[in-house]
Amino acid sequence: MLQLNQDIKYLQGVGPSRAELLQKELDIKTVGDLLEYFPYRHIDRSRFYRIADINGTMPYVQLVGEILSFENVGDGRKKRLIAHFSDGTGVIDLVWFQGVKYIVQTYDCRKPYVVFGRPQMYKGRINVAHPEMEAASASAANGTAVAAYDAYQQRLFAEPDDSTSVTPVAQVANAGAASPFRPLYHTSELMKKRGLNSTLIARLTTTLLRMLDEPLAETLPAWLVERYRLMSRNDALRQIHYPDSADELRRAQSRLKFEELFYVQLNILRYARDRARKYRGIVFSRVGNAFNDFYFHHLPFPLTGAQMRVVREIRTDMGSGRQMNRLLQGDVGSGKTLVALMCALIAIDNGCQACIMAPTEILAEQHVETLQRMLADMPVRVELLTGTVKGKRRATLLNDLLTGDIHILVGTHAVIEDNVVFSRLGLVIIDEQHRFGVAQRAKMWQKNAVPPHVLVMTATPIPRTLAMTLYGDLDVSVIDELPPGRKPIQTIHQYDRHRKSLNQSIGRQIALGRQVYIVYPLIKESEKMDLKNLEDGYEQVRQDFPDCQVSKVHGQMKPAEKDAEMQRFARGETQILVATTVIEVGVNVPNASVMVIENAERFGLSQLHQLRGRVGRGADQSFCILVTKYNLNEDTRRRIQIMVDSTDGFEIAEQDLKLRGPGDLEGTQQSGMAFDLKIANLAKDGVLLQMARDAAQHIVDDDEQERTPANQIVWQRLHELRKTNINWGSIS
Ligand code: ADP
Ligand code: MG
Repeated sequence: MLQLNQDIKYLQGVGPSRAELLQKELDIKTVGDLLEYFPYRHIDRSRFYRIADINGTMPYVQLVGEILSFENVGDGRKKRLIAHFSDGTGVIDLVWFQGVKYIVQTYDCRKPYVVFGRPQMYKGRINVAHPEMEAASASAANGTAVAAYDAYQQRLFAEPDDSTSVTPVAQVANAGAASPFRPLYHTSELMKKRGLNSTLIARLTTTLLRMLDEPLAETLPAWLVERYRLMSRNDALRQIHYPDSADELRRAQSRLKFEELFYVQLNILRYARDRARKYRGIVFSRVGNAFNDFYFHHLPFPLTGAQMRVVREIRTDMGSGRQMNRLLQGDVGSGKTLVALMCALIAIDNGCQACIMAPTEILAEQHVETLQRMLADMPVRVELLTGTVKGKRRATLLNDLLTGDIHILVGTHAVIEDNVVFSRLGLVIIDEQHRFGVAQRAKMWQKNAVPPHVLVMTATPIPRTLAMTLYGDLDVSVIDELPPGRKPIQTIHQYDRHRKSLNQSIGRQIALGRQVYIVYPLIKESEKMDLKNLEDGYEQVRQDFPDCQVSKVHGQMKPAEKDAEMQRFARGETQILVATTVIEVGVNVPNASVMVIENAERFGLSQLHQLRGRVGRGADQSFCILVTKYNLNEDTRRRIQIMVDSTDGFEIAEQDLKLRGPGDLEGTQQSGMAFDLKIANLAKDGVLLQMARDAAQHIVDDDEQERTPANQIVWQRLHELRKTNINWGSIS
């Protein structure tokens, strides 16, 4: 029996140089790796098309018919052989640029052939270049070819039906053992150049599966396979390459997706369980002066129902005796800062300090200001620590932190550094734009003997499936309500060639005393992408609005300079702020009621939503104007439309995931965790993910000692996966 860990080099048809290529390009080292290199699509070889129905957009066609005549055309490099091929419904050109002599010798006119290839338009005619050809005859080696021959002889042309855009000449039954499907595998450019293409990989998987004549070992416990009616692993790994039918293919995919998601979830949930077992939390048993004084005397506005519920959830968790690890999800402007503050006050009431981490200096500064303002009349000391706090100020600050004089420390990544030492750190709040990784969270734990409670807040909502994977080890609280009295922001899509009317609208708002943001995607001119340069934009704005004061902020400015410009705008000294996305997070200027986003087509949905959240913070009707070029592709048009139609961040996040896929969403690249999924897709497999998570949770809860015999298969497999997958190990 062939061992799955056997070097791929020794598989028939591979050899040392192909083995090297497979390893380098696809990370396939063993035959087991090849077995788990799944096709991205299948071609249904049981379907035949009529020539009359073919168009140039179909990925492939399979025809059955006869060559009417050969013709040599062109000369020099354009020299080629054409076979005029007919099935009685039309004629199509088969084209060869090479191997012409062989073709003429091998194939005859007026004999039936099965032809397979990719149709393409060339000078108004459809042709198939270098097709695969096989004799269709009553005695062909391949069952499909025999059946095709019969169908062809009897002119079994099915009537067009509406369910497919193209009518198969006939649907040929799978005559024989071979799968009617042919797998297509992704390969790299380099591989293609060296002849290691999809067809060759298919040959290798065929060989491999033939050699694996004994059943492949199961990796899920029998009770789980049964409960979820899954295909066995043995069947699934065979059917995924060469399915017997479309239905079997779907079942194989489901099984393998489930398994993949299940082990990712099991890893996450087991980690969370071990952490909960290992670390007892600081018990915040009481709500005291700080919280109550604030709540009854200094609360700037009544809490929303959602804020109240979430504060209660967090309070209960921090008092439970276990270390809290919680994700707070809330839309832009839902009031997460206030929740963070109240949780910090609970920490203070229990003799602890709190630390709030923000992704940028501007945001950290804004948090400090907000907190200091709200706590002005209370004996709570809030300080800021960023990379720019240096020298004596830094020394004093670090000292006061150590003595416990500072109650709440707000800062950037700078707070993670080893020389930042707390007297008694009880709560860490991470307000994130870009995700701080598990490693950074863990570093904050070490700042106290008993690890502090951790609250992670999202900048905008993230889709459910992504949250389950990225933050799957955390408990979740959701603020699903905005503070009252917010007028929904009106979002308008405007083409940049209607600049004049756009400027008039902006002018009208400024005349009413409002302020305007104008945001550009890039700072430096990029010749390739034809983006408006921020500087150009700035000059243009100054020309277009000669009576206005204009601020300019971008990421390459010195912090002090940037800050001064922001402040001028915040104080109302300038009416227009021209900026790059540095303003994306944080800034709060209630009088600003217009957000103009230039080249909106270049932004992701959650970024647009985040930017839009900068307006609509005052009492006035606010506007978000998405300016794009006129020619938009379908995808971009849909994205812009979603923004125009919805102001709900949760809905936008789900749509974003559907449109772009998980790999492109913010936060996923940094994490690297669980996004090299082989077969499951977080945008599409939400139902399977929930099933997998439930199953994993069940096992983690039910089999605490990991001793249940029926589950040994699971713990063993998890152990193997953790050894081979670097990202998985990094979680703990
Ligand atoms: P985010 O959740 O995006 O961090 P913020 O905490 O910045 O939102 O809050 C957005 C705005 O809403 C702030 O100006 C804040 O003062 C205000 N706000 C927060 N909670 C309430 C509330 N319960 N009622 C009225 N306004 C509130
Ligand atoms: Mg915020």
